[in-house]
Amino acid sequence: MSIETQLREKLATCTRILAMQELMGLFGHISAYDPEKGRVYLSPGMGAEKSTVGIEQILTTDVDGVVISGDQRLPAEWPIHTEIHRRRKDALAVAHLHSPYATLFSISSRKFRPVTLQGSIFDADIPVYEDPRLVRTTEQGVDLARQVQDAPVIFMRGHGVVIVARDVEELLYSALILEDEARKAVDLAALGEHRCLDHRECMAFGGRKDLPDRSKRAWKYYCQMEERWDKNPGTGRVPFV
Ligand SMILES: [Zn+2]
Repeated sequence: MSIETQLREKLATCTRILAMQELMGLFGHISAYDPEKGRVYLSPGMGAEKSTVGIEQILTTDVDGVVISGDQRLPAEWPIHTEIHRRRKDALAVAHLHSPYATLFSISSRKFRPVTLQGSIFDADIPVYEDPRLVRTTEQGVDLARQVQDAPVIFMRGHGVVIVARDVEELLYSALILEDEARKAVDLAALGEHRCLDHRECMAFGGRKDLPDRSKRAWKYYCQMEERWDKNPGTGRVPFV
């Protein structure tokens, strides 16, 4: 299977899984990068039905955002992807999501810290991109990519998150764990003060060291879940036969 087919299949599957997990819908897009050819593969933009995206709906652009193939609408914030892929050798997959709970940490003065073992992949400080506008221009994309530096995540104030990963499997796992940790932290706030994991505890769990293995196991699990996901439960939209 060619690199292009592999990346298209993984991106389409990841898009459907993120839709199933309610992290992609009207908003949000993900990308993968082929550094050999300088090709960026992108999920379709706002308005596309993410739960049914297939390989034919994945767009291809160069690193300047010029569309090479695909008839879907390009995400308005495509420079987020192109500028991070261009600048970071390890950024082979990028997600921009308006994740409901993780986005709260772009607004709150409370700093994000892992609260459970799986969250130890986010041990390092997560930067905040202060500009609340949509990232629609190359200049804004460059500004964002510079502020991400080598972090795996950046919070975008009043907007969403960007997640950077070495492959699509890690991208999915990171997106799910970040949202789960954020939700737990928000729920914990109702109980008053709570404890977080410190750096030593995160290292002991081996979060980032074991990320490739854990993300591959999670990928397999969610692919199976997505295969049997009923996309239209009880909607009544299926015509009578
Ligand atoms: Zn956005």
